[in-house]
Amino acid sequence: MTSRFKAILLKKADDKQTAEDVELSIDDLMPGDVTVVVSHSTVNYKDGLALTGRSPVVRKFPMIPGIDLAGAVETSDNPNFKPGDKVVLNGFGLSEVHYGGYAQKARVKGDWLVPLPSAFTPAQAMAIGTAGYTAMLCVLALEDAGVTPARGAVVVTGASGGVGSVAVAVLAKLGFKVIASTGRPEEEAYLKGLGASEIIPRAELSGEPRMLGKERWAGAVDSVGSKTLANVISQTSYGGAVAACGLAGGMDLPTSVAPFILRGVSLLGIDSVQMPKPRRIQAWNRLAEDLDLKKLAAMTRTIPLSGVRKAADDILAGKVRGRLVVEI
Ligand code: NDP
Repeated sequence: MTSRFKAILLKKADDKQTAEDVELSIDDLMPGDVTVVVSHSTVNYKDGLALTGRSPVVRKFPMIPGIDLAGAVETSDNPNFKPGDKVVLNGFGLSEVHYGGYAQKARVKGDWLVPLPSAFTPAQAMAIGTAGYTAMLCVLALEDAGVTPARGAVVVTGASGGVGSVAVAVLAKLGFKVIASTGRPEEEAYLKGLGASEIIPRAELSGEPRMLGKERWAGAVDSVGSKTLANVISQTSYGGAVAACGLAGGMDLPTSVAPFILRGVSLLGIDSVQMPKPRRIQAWNRLAEDLDLKKLAAMTRTIPLSGVRKAADDILAGKVRGRLVVEI
């Protein structure tokens, strides 16, 4: 008899989505050449969307949600992995078309797995999660675009959230003056503790965007989108760059070409889900160098698997500070 393990399973019937606690066996999992004993996962904004069904993240039902997982390889038919190897997986269709991380076991394509950097435990890797790995993808994109501390400050929007918190910590460690935009003024001490030099209220960037504003920063990490992103772009200095990764404030972008054609500003689109493996490994290696583990601990709270449904509601309501680790 094969052993059974716990999982959360999303089901949909009559247009109504449910999230049930179930017990599965290995034969219930989707095809893949590596099985992983999952020790930790996390709750990102996208997990909130998937668990609540608020946006069509899940494209196949039933589905085990959880876009991230970390753990140890149990069996492998992939030449790059052997039993016992510690691994991390972000995205690649998990919780969309392939069973994800909210289960004690996962069967996946070895090509999706990144070896866990020795600097991190599986719990720390999930404290980083897709949010933190995406923050680092944004930083790498800004660096490639020539944004350096000497060129000026970097603004981070949605700063108290997951992407925002990691971006603030990493950029500060790299020597940037970090301006943190937040809708939670009570998090000023938290954000300054992560390395922000200046806190600006969310409302300062959420009004009607002007075509061009005063030049305030050389770079930006935006997890909000919509008018906030438009305001960020219009206040970016000559030759600067904006890494856009999120939509917490909306999917639209009411901007003009003025910042692009009159100030040579670059808009850098960041997708973490299908990012090719060499860049993923680069991002994880840079996180090992440039993310202070004490700051990571300060932004992280741990919850059990049974807590993810509540956490999903909380993250969509903008009530989660920093990052959540799920003990599987
Ligand atoms: P979080 O919920 O942790 O962070 C989002 C933050 O945005 C909140 O904490 C809040 O920060 C701010 N915010 C929330 N609602 C609004 C609003 N209506 N208007 C303005 N600001 C708001 O989410 P994550 O960090 O996990 O993800 C951030 C965004 O990035 C999400 O949209 C997510 O989908 C996207 N994302 C995209 C990826 C990609 O591959 N492109 C990968 C990872 C994330 P504060 O209270 O400080 O203002």
